Amino acid sequence: MTEAALQAAGVDSYLACEAKQQPAWPDQDALERATARLREVPPLVFAGEADVLRGHLAAAGRGEAFVLQGGDCAEIFAEATADRIRNKIKTILQMAVVLTYGASTPVIKIGRMAGQYAKPRSSDTETRDGVTLPAYRGDIVNSFAFTEEARVPNPDRLLDAYHVSASTLNLIRAFTTGGFADLRRVHQWNKGFAANPAYARYDQMAGEIDRAVRFMAAAGGEFDALRTVEMFSSHEALLLDYERALTRIDSRSGLPYDCSAHLLWIGERTRELDGAHVEFMSRIHNPIAVKLGPTSTAADALALSERLNPNGIEGRLTFVARMGADKVRDVLPGIVEGVRDSGVPVTWLTDPMHGNTFTSESGFKTRSFDTILDEVAGFFEVHRALGTVPGGLHVELTGDDVTEVLGGTEEIDDEGLAFRYETKVDPRLNHQQSLEMAFLVAELLSA
Ligand code: PEP
Ligand code: MN
Repeated sequence: MTEAALQAAGVDSYLACEAKQQPAWPDQDALERATARLREVPPLVFAGEADVLRGHLAAAGRGEAFVLQGGDCAEIFAEATADRIRNKIKTILQMAVVLTYGASTPVIKIGRMAGQYAKPRSSDTETRDGVTLPAYRGDIVNSFAFTEEARVPNPDRLLDAYHVSASTLNLIRAFTTGGFADLRRVHQWNKGFAANPAYARYDQMAGEIDRAVRFMAAAGGEFDALRTVEMFSSHEALLLDYERALTRIDSRSGLPYDCSAHLLWIGERTRELDGAHVEFMSRIHNPIAVKLGPTSTAADALALSERLNPNGIEGRLTFVARMGADKVRDVLPGIVEGVRDSGVPVTWLTDPMHGNTFTSESGFKTRSFDTILDEVAGFFEVHRALGTVPGGLHVELTGDDVTEVLGGTEEIDDEGLAFRYETKVDPRLNHQQSLEMAFLVAELLSA
């Protein structure tokens, strides 16, 4: 019955299109068994929650709220521990408080969490010391270890991804609604030493918030809104076998939703108009995002909007610009202007990470904090000049004290990268750099 309704809603039309970046599953029977099981499991999110997020994204598109989307480049099954998940949530909550307080704007919190397990790769293989193996495509496909066995795509990992997503999302829901995120604990989220400028600045702000909250209490104010926060999940909808298997018919509207996350995005490498990713995403009713790199044009953006949001529903489509700091001021204006003049509703985010990656002299894939900030500044400049709305920030971060991005007030240098470089794919802002970034973005936002 449900399967028939899904097929009637056209969710399999993508099968006729070319799908880039899919693994070469060696065992089709095992793949069938895994996806058959995934079609029966409970959804991870409720369609109504995705609708709520769509409304929030619409508000961000109008300048009435600001989006903060962040998390790992690639989540790792073995790293889905209470400590690491809590540190990540805490980092996002702290950044959100800085932005909310610093710019007097509601902040929409979205984790690159609870499902960010599939990675697009520039090459199908990886060679080390003369040995060539299949590339690592994320924990949902294969394992990072550089052995023949580890790199074989294994469909059982689709089920593992579902279960680890479920436990991660459960902890997110527990922390954000169970008292941990209560604004009266804003001081306790801070960690590290107040000697660190970002932590000292946060501590001072937390003191001001504390006083404001106590004043409200004394004046008989209502606290319910301060006790819990709303946090949404998102990931790149790359692996179509997985996304299709978690698609469900919403019992209220009869429409299909991809219930693997609230927000799904299409990556820079899979956004062809006639490709399987755009076709699949055109059929589901979640809010969706598309990454736009430096080769994008206004015509591309308008064609994507026509395919993915033909009815012009506000909050349905978000564009995430990831141009590179050296290109954002040249390339982005034409695209934003074209979208503005067409009148179609789009929410604009900046991803200042993916256009600014390079290999350091010491051999680490890295980014520099100043360059990242420069792209964010460029994004704001472009929107201010065109009278359009800079709607939010999309970043790769972790709550741990890693050393993967150069710079910041701790001045991580080329040698320092080796100290604690843990990412399996792209370099992430650490906890302290994330907070610093939030303060700087709050300034841009309130300028
Ligand atoms: C990513 O977000 O990790 C990613 C691969 O981004 P992009 O598609 O923009 O390259
Ligand atoms: Mn990445």
